[in-house]
Amino acid sequence: MHVWVEEYYGHLCLLSKTKMPLTVNSPTLPTHNHLDKPRIGGSDDPPPRLYQLWKGRNKFMFGGRLIFGPDYKSLFLTMSLILAPLILFWTFVAKGLIVSFPPRWGLFIISLSFIFTAYIMILLFMTSGRDPGIIPRNTQPPENEDYDSSNLSTEWGTGSQNSSSIIPLTKNIMINGIFVKVKYCQTCMLYRPPRCSHCSICNNCVERFDHHCPWVGQCIGKRNYMYFFMFVSSTTLLCVFVLASCSININRIMNENNCSIWMAIQESPASGFLIMYTFVVGWFVGGLTAFHLYLIATNQTTYENFRYQYDQKLNPYNLGCCGNFKEVFCAKIPNSRNNFREKKSKENSSAGFNVSPYLGRTISAETTSKSVEMEKRQSVDADEIEVVISNHHVESLSRQDDLEERQEMRV
Ligand SMILES: [Zn+2]
Ligand SMILES: [Zn+2]
Repeated sequence: MHVWVEEYYGHLCLLSKTKMPLTVNSPTLPTHNHLDKPRIGGSDDPPPRLYQLWKGRNKFMFGGRLIFGPDYKSLFLTMSLILAPLILFWTFVAKGLIVSFPPRWGLFIISLSFIFTAYIMILLFMTSGRDPGIIPRNTQPPENEDYDSSNLSTEWGTGSQNSSSIIPLTKNIMINGIFVKVKYCQTCMLYRPPRCSHCSICNNCVERFDHHCPWVGQCIGKRNYMYFFMFVSSTTLLCVFVLASCSININRIMNENNCSIWMAIQESPASGFLIMYTFVVGWFVGGLTAFHLYLIATNQTTYENFRYQYDQKLNPYNLGCCGNFKEVFCAKIPNSRNNFREKKSKENSSAGFNVSPYLGRTISAETTSKSVEMEKRQSVDADEIEVVISNHHVESLSRQDDLEERQEMRV
């Protein structure tokens, strides 16, 4: 049966039930701090664009065409850690490598390293400079009819500072005879879809939230996870390539001069340094690649893995190893839900976001069997996250969720 399963994880401070007072703080309204400064206020000014009114902590460039996380400066460090050793390699090692091979092969290998580096930089850019899957926040809490008294939630909070209404922090939705719980984000004023979480660094709800990566300065979510994985795995390959090339160069020096390895390293200290550097970095990015291969194979996010560590049986998203890889690498990346360059009228410029409550296309149901084929799954709107789960699984996850939250209460 295809159903939407409850979102059983979320932002810690929002979901710790005992920590949450009955009257909840009003949504955080971060100060605007963009690379492109907004020009709002003058009667002759053009209407502001969405990115100028953005309430997350993101940084925008090129008029809202690129979106970065608040820690975007770490991107320069990451680029330096990749490019600096490569410049060393091209300057001091490449020449020796060319003479180690037949002329055409040597040039081909060096050209390949240029192309591969450019490819990695593009992947880094695609990971860091695009919307990771931010769900637009609402300007007002959901309407009363969206959380009528028939639902089974027991926790309540205020919707916003302007609203006197109270709304449940969790909401049970009847789908195909099964109650599914979705949780409410106080900041974004929406019920978060399954696998969505609120990034405390960027201050946004992000679909299929994996983690916030400080190395790329951006959330890793539904729209950039594939690029992130390809970046990490490609960087591992680049490390192996440089390590192997420098080793070949050292070996050539040893053979030509009939000397020891230490003498050869003195002859080409850049090769020695790069062997050490790529060995250390290679373990880091290689370990990360292996970890994400495991996560992809079992259809987990980093967030889920750290928080739940559910086994295969309890993972409602697991489609089998092949299906999980297809989901990451073959499924179409959905369009961004945000048009950052969209012009907003001055009347609602203080709001800037959705007026209607976002329960979204994320909540949908289709009746089908657990053995539904991958093709059928992919035919559904890519914005929807589907979960094949039995009633037993829903109950198990609810229990697990409650257990997790009780553990949080003790911390
Ligand atoms: Zn949120
Ligand atoms: Zn983030």
